[in-house]
Amino acid sequence: MGLTKIKEDMWSEFLTFIKPRCSRAEYANWIAPIQFVGCSDDKLTLQVPNVFVQQYLLDNYQEFLGMFLPSSGKGDLPISFLIEEKQTKPKVKAPQKQEKKSAAKEVKLNDYYTFENFIEGPSNQFIKSAAMGVASRPGKSYNPLFIHGGVGLGKTHLLHAMGHYIQKNHKKLKIHSITTEGFINDLVFHLRNKSVDKIKRFYRSLDILLVDDIQLLQNRLNFEEEFCNTFESLINQSKQIVITSDKPPGQLKLSERMIARMEWGLVAHIGTPDLETRVAILQHKAEEKGVRLPSSLAFYIAEHIYNNIRQLEGAINRLGAYSKLMHLELTQDVVDRTLGEMFQAPARTKISVDQILQSVSAMYNVRESDLRGTSRAKEIALPRQIAMYLAKELIGNSLMKIAAAFGGKTHSTLIHAWKKISKQVETDDILRRQIQMTRQNIEV
Ligand code: ADP
Ligand code: MG
Repeated sequence: MGLTKIKEDMWSEFLTFIKPRCSRAEYANWIAPIQFVGCSDDKLTLQVPNVFVQQYLLDNYQEFLGMFLPSSGKGDLPISFLIEEKQTKPKVKAPQKQEKKSAAKEVKLNDYYTFENFIEGPSNQFIKSAAMGVASRPGKSYNPLFIHGGVGLGKTHLLHAMGHYIQKNHKKLKIHSITTEGFINDLVFHLRNKSVDKIKRFYRSLDILLVDDIQLLQNRLNFEEEFCNTFESLINQSKQIVITSDKPPGQLKLSERMIARMEWGLVAHIGTPDLETRVAILQHKAEEKGVRLPSSLAFYIAEHIYNNIRQLEGAINRLGAYSKLMHLELTQDVVDRTLGEMFQAPARTKISVDQILQSVSAMYNVRESDLRGTSRAKEIALPRQIAMYLAKELIGNSLMKIAAAFGGKTHSTLIHAWKKISKQVETDDILRRQIQMTRQNIEV
């Protein structure tokens, strides 16, 4: 007999093995999207949604995959990857005349801000699917769609993604995308030129109006009223409106009438991305910029830049420029030197031992009472030591007190656990990632 043949169940065996060894979020984000397509005698074919998932699998699970799949002489894994094709394939160009723009205005959308380039995670999944729903059936589902969230979290990106999608799939619809500043400037310009009616007519003839940063309408009374009129006129004709804002409607200093209107449809929040989403975003941007970013560094950066996606982008740009100029491989040292001042001190809210036990018990599938108990079984002792390690790392309280919270352990047991795990994370990548994720779950 020559080499072992590839068998269909090798992949499912790998999945069964890996599932209890990674967090639920990791499994859902990185492993579950991989589809088994088929296999021949010497190759397994997997379909992945994008190259990052492929890279992630190879970066993190090469070794485990090797346990389930026979590797070739050179140690290559016998896997071929297919990248999932997007459903919206660009059509072959038909010789079509551009319809004449009926309005003077061009729709200005950032080319890069598409749904395809928008990385999903728990913090934005809901709003992304709402946005896709509205873009597929404008005026027929949530109206208005109100997107709010902090700076640099992807509001404008989503708004423009809707614009692109609608332009592509509903060619006949008249769409206009504008910032609130732009709306005000338009009005001012036409007021001066005594052509206000024209601009009013223009806005009221739209099928879709995308408005960015509505908070800028605060304290602009006259404009607010005109905006509200436009808004009502469109909504009454079932024309779609999408609005972004840095605050929910109720917290904006706008008239009650305006606030009530904005709350008519769906108000959805876009949150700060969790660690894994930040890593995925970093990897996506790095790939685009041709920066080779090992996943351990992506995790490292994502751990330190956590509340703004624009900063993550800035980080990649800097690293790219730096490594090209200096012809350097990226290492943690290079990252520290280039990005040090962008790094935020880790957010430290008050964390309790209970929270840590909860998170560890979810991650390792053990009972909290076992973590507090005395069993030395390996499946329990290791998670317990991890919990102790995290407690010492994250809680600024006396070690005696922390130790006592673990069912009355001693201070030296805690120190022992901390030392052991600290050492182990230096060499054990999987353990390090599991701890990072457990930690992330505590901090949200
Ligand atoms: P906001 O309007 O909320 O201030 P932006 O939409 O301008 O934020 O996003 C800031 C930057 O981050 C943009 O370059 C955008 O492409 C990027 N970005 C935001 N969210 C995502 C995401 N989920 N995936 C990929 N890039 C994102
Ligand atoms: Mg914006």
